[in-house]
Amino acid sequence: MERYDVVIVGAGPGGSGAALEAAKRGLRVLMLEKRQEIGSPKRCGEGLSKNAAKRIGIEPNPMWIRREIKGATCYAPNGTFVRIDYKDSPEGWVIERKLFDKYLAGMAVKAGARIMSKTEVVGLLREDWIISGVELESNGRKWKVRAPIVIAADGVESMLAREAGLDTTLKLPDVASGVQFEMTGIDIDPDRIELYFGNDVAPGGYVWIFPKDENTANVGIGVRRPYSSKPAIDYLRDFIDKRPGLKKGSILEVNSGGVPVGGFMESMVTDNFMVVGDAAHQVNPIHGGGMAEAFVGGRLAGQVAAEAKNARDYSETFLSRYNDMWWKERGNMLKKVLKLRMVVEELRDDELDWLAENLKGEDMVEFSRAKGFRMLAKLLMNKPRLMGLTKKLM
Ligand SMILES: Cc1cc2nc3c(=O)[nH]c(=O)nc-3n(C[C@H](O)[C@H](O)[C@H](O)COP(=O)(O)OP(=O)(O)OC[C@H]3O[C@@H](n4cnc5c(N)ncnc54)[C@H](O)[C@@H]3O)c2cc1C
Repeated sequence: MERYDVVIVGAGPGGSGAALEAAKRGLRVLMLEKRQEIGSPKRCGEGLSKNAAKRIGIEPNPMWIRREIKGATCYAPNGTFVRIDYKDSPEGWVIERKLFDKYLAGMAVKAGARIMSKTEVVGLLREDWIISGVELESNGRKWKVRAPIVIAADGVESMLAREAGLDTTLKLPDVASGVQFEMTGIDIDPDRIELYFGNDVAPGGYVWIFPKDENTANVGIGVRRPYSSKPAIDYLRDFIDKRPGLKKGSILEVNSGGVPVGGFMESMVTDNFMVVGDAAHQVNPIHGGGMAEAFVGGRLAGQVAAEAKNARDYSETFLSRYNDMWWKERGNMLKKVLKLRMVVEELRDDELDWLAENLKGEDMVEFSRAKGFRMLAKLLMNKPRLMGLTKKLM
């Protein structure tokens, strides 16, 4: 039976972050991907901010950049908008996800990791109840691989964490349902991303237009129950039908998927096992961005896997240092962002309009980084109905 120091399940950004870090630290790493092509089909708006790239630790690369983003416009239900003009343009990129994921996976391979695509992990291997590897299936062939640590980076539909005994249940409001059309032949601002808010437009979420070239963009939506009353795709179609500049376009690709926007896990480890990325709900709960979050979660788990090997200790107690590191580096900040989401979701459309009239572009950027809440609380104090919400921000 083949043996590795760590087996990583899933070759998205979370898996690649873990594989890169563990391989860099000298571990024998195997990363398994059930799809025949890493990164495809995408389930992503393909928005990557400069900050997110910095957190991943990569320089912008023409291989995966489709469009530089110079600004953003956020629309309230009545059409009032807040413009964000980035001083140090570009502030981010719309990327080609199927190339980006391959690029990250390639970095892990350069560091020494091995990847097998079209190879599905069908279950955890246990010896005397202890996780000791995985069972695989590819092209009708089944076999087993041994490793003292398994890192599950198997995305939002993760089965492995549950199989390992972790509670990955998400409450209804903590899952956004996302649908996206990559459209071409449409009228867009090719240099800016556009975001549309409102309880009729996208209850519990927003619509995004992320440009990929002069007349091509990812046009997508995320909505959440109990705020939404029909499927996400119906809201997206309504949005497009009302805009002739979009309605005239053609759809190149349809993508859909769930996004965990909350429900952070206190513990993401058990004996011989760690979970990262979407599978561990490591996503920014206000905008649903998860590529960099997954990569960072993976990187931390990869580091702890190497430390566990050195200490010859794969116990839950030892691995829980991954929990501590993630909560310190990302979790506490994301938890604050979650509070903001809980305030925004209480607002009526007329209150969103009022907020848009009173906010500046810079405020919106601050909020997504869990800053500026004091200023928002002060603003909410002006409306008697919203005063109570300020408590949620503190
Ligand atoms: C509609 C939509 C739009 C989004 N837009 C953005 C955006 O603009 N920017 C952003 O940063 N984030 C965005 N996200 C979120 C982002 O896509 C995810 O957070 C990110 O991909 C998480 O990375 P991951 O590695 O945890 O999981 P994934 O990228 O989902 O990777 C998991 C991998 O595991 C594989 N896998 C699963 N089970 C097995 C198995 N048993 N055996 C082997 N392989 C397996 C899967 O095939 C998959 O490749 C969006 C999500 C959606 C749904």
